[in-house]
Amino acid sequence: MATGKINVSVENIFPLIKKFLYSDHEIFLRELISNATDATLKLKHLSTIGESKVEYDNPLIEVKIDKEGKKIHIIDQGVGMTEEEVQKYINEIAFSGAEEFLDKYKDSAKDSGIIGHFGLGFYSAFMVASKVEIITKSYKDEPAAHWSCDGSPNFTLKKAKKTTRGTEIILHIADDSTEFLEEGKIGSLLSKYNKFMPIPIKFGTKTETLPKPEGAKEEDPAPTKEVDNIINNPNPAWTKQPTELSDEDYKGFYRELYPMQFEEPLFHIHLNVDYPFNLTGILYFPKLTNDLNTQKDRIQLYQNQVFVTDNVEGIVPEFLTMLRGVIDSPDIPLNVSRSYLQADGAVKKISTYITRKVADKLSSLFKNNREDFEAKWNDIKIVIEYGMLSEDKFFEKADKFALYPTVDGAYYTFEELQEKLKANHTDKDDKLVLLYASNKEDQHSYIEAAKAKGFEVLLLDSPIVSHLMQKLETSKEKISFARVDADHLDNLIKKEDTQISKLSDEEKETLKTDIETAINNKSYTIQLEPMDSSSSPFIITEPEFMRRMKEMQQSGGGGMFGMGNMPEMYNLVVNTNHELVSEILNTKTAKKKERLINQSLDLARLSKGLLKGEELTKFIKRSYEMVK
Ligand code: ADP
Ligand code: MG
Repeated sequence: MATGKINVSVENIFPLIKKFLYSDHEIFLRELISNATDATLKLKHLSTIGESKVEYDNPLIEVKIDKEGKKIHIIDQGVGMTEEEVQKYINEIAFSGAEEFLDKYKDSAKDSGIIGHFGLGFYSAFMVASKVEIITKSYKDEPAAHWSCDGSPNFTLKKAKKTTRGTEIILHIADDSTEFLEEGKIGSLLSKYNKFMPIPIKFGTKTETLPKPEGAKEEDPAPTKEVDNIINNPNPAWTKQPTELSDEDYKGFYRELYPMQFEEPLFHIHLNVDYPFNLTGILYFPKLTNDLNTQKDRIQLYQNQVFVTDNVEGIVPEFLTMLRGVIDSPDIPLNVSRSYLQADGAVKKISTYITRKVADKLSSLFKNNREDFEAKWNDIKIVIEYGMLSEDKFFEKADKFALYPTVDGAYYTFEELQEKLKANHTDKDDKLVLLYASNKEDQHSYIEAAKAKGFEVLLLDSPIVSHLMQKLETSKEKISFARVDADHLDNLIKKEDTQISKLSDEEKETLKTDIETAINNKSYTIQLEPMDSSSSPFIITEPEFMRRMKEMQQSGGGGMFGMGNMPEMYNLVVNTNHELVSEILNTKTAKKKERLINQSLDLARLSKGLLKGEELTKFIKRSYEMVK
C-alpha cells in the first residue's frame, strides 16, 4: 500500500475546488460520466486499431445510488487504470490524461470523441463528496488498484480484488449535499447533461411489458420483465448524415429535445462542417410570436454529445437565438468569459457559418416552394427582419427573399414591389412611396381610403419593422415608407385626380379660423383640401417621421437619437368638398358650429384610435344626446 500527498502547490486545494472551480456543484456528475465515457471510447479506439485484445461488446456506464450508505457509484467498463496510472493521472493533479492520449494518438484519435481536456474534472467530485474512492482494473494484465482520499491532500493507494475491467468511482456524499442521494435529482441531472452521450447509461431498472404468448386469454395479464433503464440516446440525429434522416426523423428528434413542446417546427437546418472548425448540429425554426424575449435560450450547446449550456449568446448571432435545436462543437472555448468568446476568431467563424447556412436554407425554401414559403412567412419574419437589421451579410442575402405582404394577402419581394408599384406610387420627386398599415383593424378606414384611390397597401406589423424601414430607406435609392394614416398620401395623388374646391378663398379663411377656435388645440395643424365628396369630412394624419421616431423609442432604439418624449403632432385634413363641411361653414349659431366641429373631430379621432378613456366616455354620452 502506498500513501502520499497529492501533488498540488496549494496546501489544501479542495476547499478551493469546492468554492471556485465550478459554481454549479451539480456538474460533478457530468464530469464523472464524461470520464467514464472517455475511458470506454478509449477502449473502443484501442480495440479498433488492434492494441487491445479485450472484447468491446456493448459496454455500459452505470449510475447507482446507495441512499442508506450515502453513496453514489459510477461504474464503467472502459480502459481502467493500473496503479501506476492512478498515481500519474489522479495524483498529479491538473495533468490531463485525455490530453496525453490525444497527443499520442493524434491522428487516429481525432474523431474518437474524447471529452476531457481540462484535467480537473475528476476533482469536481469533492464538491459533493467528503471521501472519494476509485476501484479500477486496467485492460492491461495488471492487478486492480484502490485509491481513496478524504478531501485532504492525503491519499491511500493499494491493490484491490476487482477482476472485471473498468472503473468504479464511489462518492461518499457530504452532509451538505444529500440532495444528490435523491433518485429524482440524479435522474434530472442525467437527463439534462447526459441525454445524448455516446455510451449507454444505466440508471436503475424498469419494468417492460412483453407480448402475450400465443393462446393467452383476454383477461390474462401480459408478462413483464425487469430491464436496464437506459437514460440516454447514444446516437442522436445530429450525429448522423442528413442523407440518413427523413423529415419524420427530424421532427422526432425535435420532440426528443423539447418533450413539452406540442407545436411542430416549421423546418430544420442540418449543420455539418469539419473545416476550418468542427461543428455539427440541427437548428429548427419554430413558430414565433411577437414576444421576442420569451423565445430565447432554447438552443442547446454540446461538446462531443455532452450538454454544456443553453446560453449560446456570443456563439450564435443574436437574431438566431430565437431558433431551437442543438449545436455540438469541441472547438468552442468554454473556460473563458463571454466577452472573450465574442472576440475569439474561431467563434466568429462559427457564427458566420451558422448565419450563412440559415440564409442559404431560407433562400432555397423560397426558390423551391414559394407558396409554402409565403404561408410560413408570418411565423418566420421576425427572425429574418431582425437578421436583416443586425447583420449586413444576412441583409444582402435576405433582401432577395424577404417578403412584403399586402393587406389583401399578396406577397412581394422588394424588387417585385419596385417593379409593380413604380407606375402609380411615385411622388413628384420621383420617389417610390410604399404605403403600409401596421394593423388592419385599427387603420381600417385609412386602408379603405387608400385602396379607393387605387393604392396598394402593405401589411407590415412586426414589432421591429419601423427599424427595418429606416434601414431600407437609407440603403436603397429613392424609396420611402408611409403609413396609411401618414401625411404623405397627398403627395401621391395624381394631377388628374385633383379636385377643384367648391369654396372661395374667403370662405376657406373663415372655415379655418372657425375650426381653430373651436378645437383650440395646438397639436392639430388644420389643412384644407378639396377632395372627393365621398371621402370623410375630417381626417387625422400624422407625420410619418414623428410617429416612427416615437415607435422606435418604444421598441428600444430611442436612446441613440437622444430625444426625450416626442410631442403629439397631427394634421387635421378638412375635405372642403364635403357636405358636412359646407354645413359647418354655413351654421349661424356659434354654439352649434362649435358642437359640429368638435363632434366631427372626435369622429376622426375615433377612426384613428385616438379617442380613449374619459374623452371616449364623454363622446359617447354626447352622441346619445344628439340621436335622441
Ligand atoms: P480530464 O478528463 O480532463 O483528462 P479528469 O480530472 O477528469 O481530467 O481526469 C483525469 C484523468 O484520470 C483522465 O484523463 C483519465 O486518464 C483518468 N481517469 C479519470 N476517470 C477515469 C475512468 N473512469 N477510467 C479511466 N481513467 C480515468
Ligand atoms: Mg474529465
